[in-house]
Amino acid sequence: MALVQKFASGLAARSGELLNQSHTGDAPIRMSMNTPRKLHIKSYGCQMNVYDAQRMVDTLARENFVETDNAADADLVILNTCHIREKASEKVYSELGRLREAKDDAVRGGRDMKIVVAGCVAQAEGAEIVRRAPVVDVVVGPQSYHHLPALLERANRDGRAIETEFPLQDKFHSLAPPQPAAIRARGVTSFVTVQEGCDKFCTFCVVPYTRGAEVSRPVTKIADDVRRLADNGVREITLIGQNVNAFHGEGPDGKPWPLGMLLHHLAEIRGIARLRYTTSHPCDVDDSLIAAHRDLPALMPYLHLPVQSGSDRILGAMNRKHSVAEYHRIIEKFRAARSDMAFSSDFIVGFPSETEEDFAATLALVDQIGYASAYSFKYSPRPGTPAAEMQGMVDAATMDQRLAQLQQLIDSQQSAFNAACVGKTLDVLFEQAGRRAGQIVGRSAYLQPVHVMAGAELIGQVRPVAVNSLERYSFFGELPAEHAPAIASHRDHASLTATTGA
Ligand code: SAM
Ligand code: SF4
Repeated sequence: MALVQKFASGLAARSGELLNQSHTGDAPIRMSMNTPRKLHIKSYGCQMNVYDAQRMVDTLARENFVETDNAADADLVILNTCHIREKASEKVYSELGRLREAKDDAVRGGRDMKIVVAGCVAQAEGAEIVRRAPVVDVVVGPQSYHHLPALLERANRDGRAIETEFPLQDKFHSLAPPQPAAIRARGVTSFVTVQEGCDKFCTFCVVPYTRGAEVSRPVTKIADDVRRLADNGVREITLIGQNVNAFHGEGPDGKPWPLGMLLHHLAEIRGIARLRYTTSHPCDVDDSLIAAHRDLPALMPYLHLPVQSGSDRILGAMNRKHSVAEYHRIIEKFRAARSDMAFSSDFIVGFPSETEEDFAATLALVDQIGYASAYSFKYSPRPGTPAAEMQGMVDAATMDQRLAQLQQLIDSQQSAFNAACVGKTLDVLFEQAGRRAGQIVGRSAYLQPVHVMAGAELIGQVRPVAVNSLERYSFFGELPAEHAPAIASHRDHASLTATTGA
């Protein structure tokens, strides 16, 4: 039977009783618009998706949706998808199979369930998604989230809605800001998008096709967002963007500002104790960014700077636009600016034509830099990218073996970095209650979880912690002086320099 989705315009009308025809077309379903409707959202992939999911929740809160952890119970389920590797995309289709059963159960129980596929799989596959999974009601690309209420309305009216355009209108301007209660419920750390899209066109990567060209937000809008978060208890901001250090948003003076200037500006906002940013491209590191690390105690000395490979030949084939020697020089500049800098990175093994010699060069680079942690992936051909057409695909067994070898080296570096922190005093921003009664947990500058026995009133404060033990990846320590004054802002932070010899 053809799907009939005459779900009467639920999002336009916010009150009153509505008639909704089930997708089997049998019995009309009564929906009360006075009762909040339940929204379940599942995000895959990067921080950008986590942030986008929150903005969708904030936007749909205006339409009387409240979040639920239980998909089966939801009136609206959103899968916020990732297309970066094949495995990530395929997960979406398995999840849609499970949701089809949940939707059938909902209809049998007399209620409707709308299913939305958002994010980069939506952008890349568009209408193909509803062909493979007819249970889907709405497909929406990452640049159109602000149209979600209208798209749901269109799906109610027409049976289905698909939008994968790159609208010119600023989506951030239209997305609802989070309400104070939502900010407080999300904790003392927050992401803020400052830049989207990418113009680099690395030959393996789908991002320029799914997220579009680089766009930076204006400085005043970012500062407004950060102020709003700080006023509601957020102490740490991570600025995010697919290529965050390509940021060139318009400053209050009407000129494009680099990321370093933006960081200086945000560090002045009262209540912000810590700043981070991710993900950066080596070619977009400029003097303003190095200066920000030198001058801003609030800017954490921990940088994710993906290099992908240690072979110049492979870097060329990847179109990364820099050499291994240049990467080393950039790392040295950061280390010269701040001696406690530590680094993480991304690596791809088994890029087309990668030889044993190329791979050995990657191991050598890791060895020379000494990372605090790093992510490594097997190359995954993505349809439409230049690398997917290249000769010399590396066989699966070789990829597995190289990945295992690289991960072993990275793990040993991470363990050594962590072990060197035991016995030292680390500044910790406390984020939440720990698992044990009377325990709280926070993170060091290097994002290591640190547990202490202390009261919940310290949540949201930065305190020095004497770290005395490490279990797997978690640290345990003590507050040296129980009543030591809290670090209220970055201005006081300078007097408590981290003492890791990273
Ligand atoms: N903009 C960042 C940069 O310049 O490195 C990376 C963003 S991407 C979302 C995150 C990581 O996914 C990349 O650094 C890369 O290591 C990995 N990645 C991207 N495409 C991939 C592919 N086709 N196969 C395997 N890994 C991939
Ligand atoms: Fe993808 Fe990053 Fe390269 Fe852009 S810079 S194409 S996001 S890997």
